Amino acid sequence: MLKKIIGLGIVMSLIACGATKATDDVVEKPIKVVSQSEVDENNGAEVEVVIGDHLQTNGKKASEVYPNDMKTIVSYLASDALAGRDTGSEGIDKAATYIAGYLKENGIGPYYCRYRDVFDVNGKEAFNVIGLLEGTDPVLRDEYVVIGAHYDHIGKGKKVGDDVIANGANDNAAGTAAVMQMAKYFAKVKNNKRSIVFVLFAAEEKGLLGSKHLAKQMKEAGRNVYAMLNFEMIGVPLVGKDYTAYVTGYHKSNLAEKMNAYASANLVGYLPQAKQYQLFSRSDNYPFYTEFNIPAQTFCTFDFTNFDYYHHVDDEIDKLDFNHMASFVNAYLPAIEKVVNSAPNEIRLND
Ligand SMILES: [Zn+2]
Repeated sequence: MLKKIIGLGIVMSLIACGATKATDDVVEKPIKVVSQSEVDENNGAEVEVVIGDHLQTNGKKASEVYPNDMKTIVSYLASDALAGRDTGSEGIDKAATYIAGYLKENGIGPYYCRYRDVFDVNGKEAFNVIGLLEGTDPVLRDEYVVIGAHYDHIGKGKKVGDDVIANGANDNAAGTAAVMQMAKYFAKVKNNKRSIVFVLFAAEEKGLLGSKHLAKQMKEAGRNVYAMLNFEMIGVPLVGKDYTAYVTGYHKSNLAEKMNAYASANLVGYLPQAKQYQLFSRSDNYPFYTEFNIPAQTFCTFDFTNFDYYHHVDDEIDKLDFNHMASFVNAYLPAIEKVVNSAPNEIRLND
C-alpha cells in the first residue's frame, strides 16, 4: 500500500511538473526595485536598480560580493511594496518570484521541477524557494550541503508614527541576500564536490514550518545530507567581539573549529547567550538536526546588544551595514567552500 502511495505521488508530481508553466520562475525583464529610501530620494518617482552593479569596491582587492549587490537585494525584499513578507500575502509571493528569478538568472536550477516547494499553513499557501547545484565529484555528489535562510517575515508590527509595516531588513532579508550571493558564487566557480541545496525558507516565523517541511521531504526521499548551514540576521556587525559571527550549537559539532582552521581566522565564535536562549532549536537549522542527526547550525551577527529593532517596524534598510554584509559573505565563502569539499565525515557532530 505504501509503495502504491509513493508511486502515485511520483506520478502526480511528474504530471504536476509537466503541466506547470512555471511563470513565476521566469524573469522576462529586469526586476523593478523600489525601496523606501530610493522613493524618498526621488520624490516618489520609481527607480530601477540593476542586479549586480559593482559600484562600491572601495579600492579593495576584487572580491566576489560587493555591498551594492547586497543592498540591491535587501532593498527589494524589505521594501514597503512587499509589506513585510507575511505568509499567505501578496508580498511574499513577489519575494518568491524575485528569488526564483535570481537563482535562474545566475545558473542555479530548481531542486524540484520548479523553484517553489509549496505546502499548507492553516489554509494558506506557503512556499520554500529551492535551488540545486549538483556536485562535481562522482561519489560525493550524492551528499548534500544545505545552505539556507528564511525569507518570510511577520507582515505588520506595532505602529510607530504611521508606519505599521515590519520590513524585516535584518530579519531576514539580510540572510536571504547572503544565501542568494553564495548561490551566485558557487554557480560561477562550479567547484563544489558535494551537491548544494540553496533554500530560502517560508513560514519560519510561524514555527520553522518551511524547514520542517523540507527536512522531512529530504529524509523521506533518502537524501544524504552532510551538513546544514543557516544564516540569520547578519545585517549589522558584532561589536567588541574577536570573531565575525557566532554559531548556534557551537559545541555540538566541529563545524566552527574546522571553519576557523580553513580560514586561518576567527570567523566563528561562541556566544553564551545563544545557549542561554536556546537559539539552536529556534531557527531553520534545527529540523535538519532532528531529522538527520548531522551538523546543522545557524550563523548570526545579532547578539541582542547591537540591533534594537528585532520584530520592530524600524527593522529597515537604513539600519543595515552593507559593507559589513559583503565582507561577511566574502570572509565566509572560502570556508564554506572547504566545508562543501571536505573529506568524507570530516565535518561531524562531537561525541
Ligand atoms: Zn529570523
